[in-house]
Parts: sequence; structure tokens; C-alpha cells
Amino acid sequence: MRTSSGKELDAIVVGSGPGGATVARELALAGRKVLILEWGDNDPVKGTLTQTIPRAFVPGKSMLITGQALGMVRAITTGGSSLLFCATAFDPPVDMLKKYGIDVTQEVAEVRKEVPNAPLTDELMSPAGVRFEESALDLGYDCRRLNKFIYQNKCKPDCQLCLYGCPYDAKWNARNFVNEALENGAKMINFAKVDKVIFENRKAVGVEYKQGQDYYRAFASKIIIAAGGIGSPVILNNSGIHGVGYDFFFDPLIYVFGKIRDVKSGRGLCMSAGIHFPEDGIVMTDFNLPQMLKMVFDVEVFRFKQVFSYSNVVPIMIKVRDCLSGRIINDKLIWKTLSKADKQKLDKGAEHAKRILTHAGAAEVYRSWVLAAHPGGTVKIGEHVDADLKTKFDNLYVCDCSVVPEEWGLPPTMTLLSLGKRLAKHLLGVKGNVTEKETFAGKVRELSRQEEKAA
Ligand SMILES: Cc1cc2nc3c(=O)[nH]c(=O)nc-3n(C[C@H](O)[C@H](O)[C@H](O)COP(=O)(O)OP(=O)(O)OC[C@H]3O[C@@H](n4cnc5c(N)ncnc54)[C@H](O)[C@@H]3O)c2cc1C
Repeated sequence: MRTSSGKELDAIVVGSGPGGATVARELALAGRKVLILEWGDNDPVKGTLTQTIPRAFVPGKSMLITGQALGMVRAITTGGSSLLFCATAFDPPVDMLKKYGIDVTQEVAEVRKEVPNAPLTDELMSPAGVRFEESALDLGYDCRRLNKFIYQNKCKPDCQLCLYGCPYDAKWNARNFVNEALENGAKMINFAKVDKVIFENRKAVGVEYKQGQDYYRAFASKIIIAAGGIGSPVILNNSGIHGVGYDFFFDPLIYVFGKIRDVKSGRGLCMSAGIHFPEDGIVMTDFNLPQMLKMVFDVEVFRFKQVFSYSNVVPIMIKVRDCLSGRIINDKLIWKTLSKADKQKLDKGAEHAKRILTHAGAAEVYRSWVLAAHPGGTVKIGEHVDADLKTKFDNLYVCDCSVVPEEWGLPPTMTLLSLGKRLAKHLLGVKGNVTEKETFAGKVRELSRQEEKAA
């Protein structure tokens, strides 16, 4: 066992997805000494399937299969699942969080100023997105363009590499915040898989991690576990904190495909327009898929005839708010079955999609198998962490999708960025809003700006 860092660190952040990256960035900007421990790589994004497979489709690591043969995907790489995400920015559940003593209104406003989050311009809408939107509006659905974490001036309309990580830096993802943290003095160790937290007198003082064949220990004043909805409960369990990892959500989804001869589909951004049925817990959007992924989904449901149809197939994604259930057994194994109510929601969404596609001129309509991509609620606020995201142990915090206290059914990234900012303020002892100028790093930047101006 080796010791990689002494007690001089202010914080160790485990995991660099949206939750962890935000805390690390905010603490580094304020001049704190931060170490990020990340299980995955930090290779530059190429936007290829060959690079994406080892990050997101390794069974028993990033692709976890439930007893019902349902796949749950997460990315093990710097930036976490945000590297693969569709960059759709849904507003946080402010009222739900208020019930637990958490008000993120201020933080949401701050995040909105710092990351792109606007609907796509007409030029970036894909033909499939436009046809979905037109058909839905024509049928009377409340279909709206969705806010996107996308730098639209860098985005290419005829591209489909979002889901493989964007090689053009047009898609904001948590690596943007990790890089800012590193530029401001934070350190990151990649391929460092954290196993457990080290305690001294019921206080968290460090973590134990494995890199290659070697085991290390690192120590800091604050430990923030941000290993995602699956990773965090596993680390806490290994550390002797039991009762976490039960009754979680993962937002199951299906695709409904329809062949529309006069639509040039396939390429272009996904999730550009959407319909939300909050009462039913259903959201549906256009969803251009890379060809290889569509082929895999076709084969899964034995649609061999459709495997080579691509360029005029319009996919609609249905995502539902599932009931809390199941258990994270370990890093490789999760247990969860879809309830009758979950299946009924998927069926109801599929019926809406069929109606929209048929109205748009689709001839053959069929649906995919079920997949899930938003695991959360495994270390709930109010149960395992308090309103400051602190566990019952001093100096030990959790900040990622695992803390979301209730099933919610919408993409969570905006919420996690807001929670990350709020936790950083708590750790820095800041009340309310901090302007960029007020942080230590902000002051340094302001000084060098003034010097540049004077020169
Ligand atoms: C295909 C796809 C599309 C999505 N689309 C959207 C979208 O459009 N909008 C949206 O808001 N959300 C979307 N999401 C969901 C969103 O990406 C996730 O909810 C979000 O990334 C979760 O952030 P997190 O901080 O909880 O953890 P994660 O992103 O899961 O990050 C956890 C990090 O911890 C690391 N880690 C895990 N275990 C350990 C360990 N033991 N030691 C060290 N490091 C560890 C992982 O490698 C990872 O980097 C999508 C997800 C997927 C998969």
C-alpha cells in the first residue's frame, strides 16, 4: 500500500462526472487544493465507436444488465456519462428539492450563465427533428424545442457524433469543468478506482484506491464521493456504510422507429424537440441514432429486415419515470425489474409516438427493447445525506445523481451542476451567491486582465 498524497489536500473528489467536476472546479477556482480520482481515461475525444465501446459498452463495467435483460449504460471516463450524453438541459426539480431543505434557485441561475443552454436554431435542426416537431404540433401536442448544452457556433448540422463524445468541442460536457479545475491547480489521477473511504475517529480522512496492480491511499480534509448513481453506493458500502443502493430509478427508455420515405434522416442532433407529460411521467423526443446503434437495437428485437434501413427511418425516444425499486449489488451487478406501471407508461408513450410517426407519413412502425441511462436515488437526500449532502460521518459528502431523493424521470445534468455549486459554497463557507470576481482565482484573473489592459 502506497500513500500518494499527504494531508495537505483540501479535498479529494472521487469521479469526474457533472457532480464531481462541478465541485472540483468551484473549489479549485477558490484556490483550494483538490485531487480528482477518476476510474476512467482522459484521452482526447475522437468521436468514434471504437473509442466509445471501451468507455460505455463493457458488460459488467459500463454496461450493466439486469435480470430482465435490460441494459443500463454509464460512461467510465473523465467527464462520466456526460461524455456520451445528448446534451439536453432540463430544468431542475426546484420544488421537490425544497421539500428536503435545498433551494438551488440561485445556483441554477449561475449555471445558466456559465454553460450553453438554449434551443437549437433552425439551421441545426435535423430533418427528422423538424418532421417530428411539425407532426406533433399538427396533432395538437405541446411540442417544444429543448434547451441544449451546445456551443451552437461550433456545432455541425449534418453530424451524428454527439453520442460518441463530440470531437469538435461543440457539446459542453463535464470535461470542460474538469479542465478548468486543472488549469486552476487541481490534480487528477486517471485509472484510479476508489475502493473505500478511510475513517479516523468517525471522521473521513482519505480514500483507498487501486491503480493498475497497486493500492494507494490519499488523504484530505474533505472527501466528496461523486462516482455516479452506481459507483457511489458501491464505495459507501465497501466503507461500511450500509443501507445505500436500494430503491433507485434509472429512467427506462425505448425507441419507436418509423420509415418516412421523404425524410432524409440519420444524421443531425438528437433530442432537439420534446413533449413532456408530467402527470404520466413520460417524455418523448426525436432521436437520431448512429447507424451502428440502430442496427444493434433492430437485432435485439429480431427486426432483421429493418437492419439496413437507415437514411429515412425516424426514431422517437420515449423515456419514463420508473418506480423506485431494485438494488445495486456491486460494481458489476444491479438488480431491478420494471413494474407493471413502468411498462404501461412505456406502452402509452409508444402509442403517442406511433400516432405522431403515422401522421408524419411513416409506413412501418416498430419499437426497440428497453434501455436505461440515468441511474440515481441510491444515496438519497433525507435518508443517507443531509441537505448539505453530508453523510453521517464528518467530512464525507456525496454529490452526483445518487443523491436525487425521488423518482423524477427527466435528464438530471442541470440539477447535478446546481447541486455541485451549492455543495462547493457550503464547503467554502460561503452563504448565497459568489461572483466570479470574489473567488480567489477570479481575483487573480481580474488582476491579470487589468495588467494586460494596461500593457
Ligand atoms: C446515452 C446517455 C444520454 C444522456 N443524455 C442526457 C441528456 O441529454 N441530458 C442530461 O441531463 N443527462 C443525460 N444523461 C444522463 C447524464 O449523463 C448523467 O445523469 C450524468 O452524467 C450523471 O452525472 P454524475 O455526476 O451522477 O455521474 P457520472 O456521469 O456517472 O460520473 C461518475 C464518474 O465517476 C467515475 N467513477 C465511478 N466509479 C468510480 C470509482 N470507484 N473510483 C473512481 N471513479 C469512479 C466514472 O468513471 C465517472 O467518470 C445521459 C446519459 C447517457 C448514458
